[in-house]
Amino acid sequence: MFLSLRGVTKRFGAVVAVDHVDLDLAEGEFVCFLGPSGCGKTTLLRLVAGLEVLDEGEILLEGDDLAGLPARKRNFGVVFQSYSLFPNMTVARNIAYGLECRKWERARIEARVAEMLDVVHLGQHADKLPHELSGGMQQRVALARALAPEPAVLLLDEPLSALDAKVRESLRGEIRELQQRLGITTIMVTHDQDEAMEMADRIVVMNRGRIEQIGTAEDLYWSPETRFVGEFIGRLNILDDPDLRAGLDAGGNDAVLAIRPEHVAIADSGSLEGTVHRVAFLGNTMRLGVETKGQNLEIEVHGRRRRLAVGDRVRFDLPPDRICRLAAAPA
Ligand code: ATP
Repeated sequence: MFLSLRGVTKRFGAVVAVDHVDLDLAEGEFVCFLGPSGCGKTTLLRLVAGLEVLDEGEILLEGDDLAGLPARKRNFGVVFQSYSLFPNMTVARNIAYGLECRKWERARIEARVAEMLDVVHLGQHADKLPHELSGGMQQRVALARALAPEPAVLLLDEPLSALDAKVRESLRGEIRELQQRLGITTIMVTHDQDEAMEMADRIVVMNRGRIEQIGTAEDLYWSPETRFVGEFIGRLNILDDPDLRAGLDAGGNDAVLAIRPEHVAIADSGSLEGTVHRVAFLGNTMRLGVETKGQNLEIEVHGRRRRLAVGDRVRFDLPPDRICRLAAAPA
């Protein structure tokens, strides 16, 4: 494995921020750490970067233990949420700085800076100061600066969350494309599931310092292993009502049964019936709140012409092959 985490643990006083995390990254892979605020994802990234010291466990790069190697000696490129560029240096000097620290030769630095400016499409802006650029451009400079020294691993700590929605979307694609072109092993921290699903080869879903599940976006969406993952990735109806559960071969009363809103099948011949109490028209999708047997279900309908209204009765089925069986908590 290219990068391996073994039993990585970090405590802050009584808080276990990262709790025995095991993870392997292949070379060239893009992995996202995804989870709610406080789940430990930033701390885990900082441990990899060498910005925090582990309490237990080890981190290996191509088999070499990184313990004792300070951040600046790890040859990892890091980009933070706040662009953290040097405000009084031009774009070009910001990118050159790390190379000067590494004692690269003048000519090589100039060539590399020009190359990196080209890569992030900022050739026209080499002589500007950071404050003369938009947020998205500043983040591209930060990316160029991180990539310039040809790092072994790229670490991105919520790099897009300070940007507005449009810029964020276009940078998602740009960063992913660049990462694939360079083939650089990358870890990105995010709390945004869409971002993780769009960009990552694999997503590591974290909860309370632990990994809940690791998988592709498809794995997590189609086969969530825990209730936490099911509810964090996409939307999910948890089926609590005994009558609803009765028809579903529940496999014991302890199993959490759930279904995604788009898998509830509305049909006139449906075996269940409910009353619409909420309708949201979202263009290609209509999202309904339906009350049935004392339980509220969210149902999504695609491409339906006739608009349903609050108070309408609808018939539907819960197709057995669409039911998720989840563990309430990770094993
Ligand atoms: P966020 O998205 O809010 O940054 P996160 O998932 O990145 O959340 P961490 O920042 O890694 O989570 O924090 C994990 C836990 O460790 C939290 O309970 C946090 O309060 C605690 N923690 C993190 N850094 C420190 C620190 N320097 N001192 C004390 N506690 C800390």
